[in-house]
Amino acid sequence: EVALIYFITPTYPRREQVAELTRLGQTLMHVPRLHWIVADDRPDCSQQTMNLLPDFGIPYTYIASPMPAIYKRATDAIPRGVSNRRAAINWIRLNHNIDDTKAVIYFGDDDNTFHLDLFKEIRTTKKISMFPVGLVGEYAISSPIVEKGKVVGFFDSWPAKRKFPVDMAGFAINVQLLFKYPYATMPYKAGFEEDRFLSALSIQLEDIEPKAENCTRILVWHTQTAKKPKPTVMVRSKAALPGSL
Ligand code: UDP
Ligand code: MN
Repeated sequence: EVALIYFITPTYPRREQVAELTRLGQTLMHVPRLHWIVADDRPDCSQQTMNLLPDFGIPYTYIASPMPAIYKRATDAIPRGVSNRRAAINWIRLNHNIDDTKAVIYFGDDDNTFHLDLFKEIRTTKKISMFPVGLVGEYAISSPIVEKGKVVGFFDSWPAKRKFPVDMAGFAINVQLLFKYPYATMPYKAGFEEDRFLSALSIQLEDIEPKAENCTRILVWHTQTAKKPKPTVMVRSKAALPGSL
């Protein structure tokens, strides 16, 4: 039996949101046996996103969970996409039938770029798999280091004393782990979400299954969309009609 992929996408309201979700949705349309969990960082689901998601013809769940206000005031980095990823993790715990369906969980941000081969790679994750992510940080790559088919360390521009210096897009887990560690979740600690989550799941280096041809292929990129700030004033002028001069 082929495992289902739960693809968790944290997203938030902004001018770029519909464009990001459209591009991502049209990537996911090519992937069989995938359940898209769109987790919006807002108090309730938006009509705009509710209207958009059926367009892709794929199974999806749309949930909303806003970042608590205390984290928005954080003086250091803000933990983006945590409240909504946590809500998605809990949705899986409440709705997945562990005895019935094999499944793998992956966190795919709304602005990242995914090669379709990525889905073939992560689908066979027994416990935890890892692979390179392109365009991360100063080195423009974050990747496990593989020797003789085993992960022996990590190459990442920001180690920060993390046990697992990996990007959110650089790993997949088998759903069984969520049930084995029912209280494990993602921390509200910017930069340490991956490391603390994986530690909460008691991951050890020897558990890690290297994917993407022993981590020699990049199948996901941490692309970022340039932000268009909202204008402070909008001036609406009459169109210059032909012949109006
Ligand atoms: N995100 C969110 N709330 C926010 C900011 C971001 O849910 O206030 C989501 C965003 O849609 C994306 C993920 O969290 O899927 C990571 O955010 P972003 O892409 O802005 O971060 P970066 O690319 O800089 O890591
Ligand atoms: Mn991003």
